[in-house]
Amino acid sequence: MRSQKGGSTEFMADHMLKRACEWMRFLGYTVYYPECHYDNDILKTCMKNDLVLLTRDIELYRRYPLSIYINSVDIDNQISQIMEMFPPDPKKFMTKCPDCGSDLYSINSDEINVPDGIKKRFHVVKYCNKCKKAFWPGTQYNKIMEKINRLLK
Ligand SMILES: [Zn+2]
Repeated sequence: MRSQKGGSTEFMADHMLKRACEWMRFLGYTVYYPECHYDNDILKTCMKNDLVLLTRDIELYRRYPLSIYINSVDIDNQISQIMEMFPPDPKKFMTKCPDCGSDLYSINSDEINVPDGIKKRFHVVKYCNKCKKAFWPGTQYNKIMEKINRLLK
């Protein structure tokens, strides 16, 4: 495997790792999810952009030198394996949209369509401009942070 560029490493997750891909985005990694199902296209995109390929497919793994074979089907183990190899930056937690990977930005909750209760509690929320989705420190957010902290130990 070639040497990594430190914090700027970018990833591609294969189709068997959709949940891991979402979790990696919560953790602040830049990770792409394939739009097509053809192995050759996935590999082409990885090569062109120097992406580290995370895969559960041993054939794909063998075909690309910058790939990492994810051993487990268990989501906690998958995240742990990735975090061990590429320690995440806590400053980047919850900065990316789990659905599309775009950077979230802070927006006044009055400006977007969120429930009134949320507007009252949070003046500012995180927002994905692409998915038109808002994120705030609610139950889901806390559960995510709990899991991240548990796995980091
Ligand atoms: Zn999004």
